[in-house]
Amino acid sequence: MNLKTTVYFLLIISLFSACSTDSESDASSTDNNNEVITEEMKDRNRKNVGDSANDLLANDKYKTTVFEIFYVKDYKPTDETVENFKSFVTERLNKSKGWEIRLEEITVPAKTAYTVDDIIAMENNLRTQYNTNDKIAVFGIYLDAKYAGNTENGSVLGIAYQNTSFAIFENTVKTFSNKPLAPSRTVLSTTVLNHEFGHLLGLVNVGSEMQTDHQDIAHGKHCDVDNCLMYWTAETGEGLLNSITGGQIPTLDPQCIADLKANGGK
Ligand SMILES: [Zn+2]
Ligand SMILES: [Zn+2]
Repeated sequence: MNLKTTVYFLLIISLFSACSTDSESDASSTDNNNEVITEEMKDRNRKNVGDSANDLLANDKYKTTVFEIFYVKDYKPTDETVENFKSFVTERLNKSKGWEIRLEEITVPAKTAYTVDDIIAMENNLRTQYNTNDKIAVFGIYLDAKYAGNTENGSVLGIAYQNTSFAIFENTVKTFSNKPLAPSRTVLSTTVLNHEFGHLLGLVNVGSEMQTDHQDIAHGKHCDVDNCLMYWTAETGEGLLNSITGGQIPTLDPQCIADLKANGGK
């Protein structure tokens, strides 16, 4: 499902653990250099989902990635989710200088639901990391209330709404993980997170060209392989409860991986 021009809902997401001062990386970390960030520079991170797929995957222009993740107190991604996401990133991104994850707690006014406009406004206030030199920046936020566009049949767990931005409705993730026979919060959260990031990587057919025909056009930018991470049911809590069996986090099928490899990834 899409919202507005380029919002894909997916579910997913949870990222990193650690506290507000936490910062981890797998290689050399980037620093800020006190660079002045102009509006023109910020505009590079305000494009459509999929527009930075190649920049995120390949090592040509950007050699390192910084993930700046904000979370509302009590909605921090679990440590295990963060570890799972690190593995996913390490397996797919071709970055000679590695990546860095920064987690920061935020305080927000009480709200019952968030629209995309609400989230973009929060991002504009909070975000400090934008693409500079050889570093590409990704923004994520873990929210304490549901998505305003939820319907009777679809409780959105996460959305990818700009080329380097995603949001996770961790409150909704928690609600679904508490249902009888449901997968754990970490399994749901990791699935949503990896799925959302998969959209930022250009899946399916939204920035990473398909090497074989596997788009489920009826469901937008999704894969037609029903056990793939990019299958459409990963968009909502209802869908995930039905599709995740045995507590396993879905992975990318070979066709999705082929698309990423062809676009500079691994
Ligand atoms: Zn999706
Ligand atoms: Zn797939």
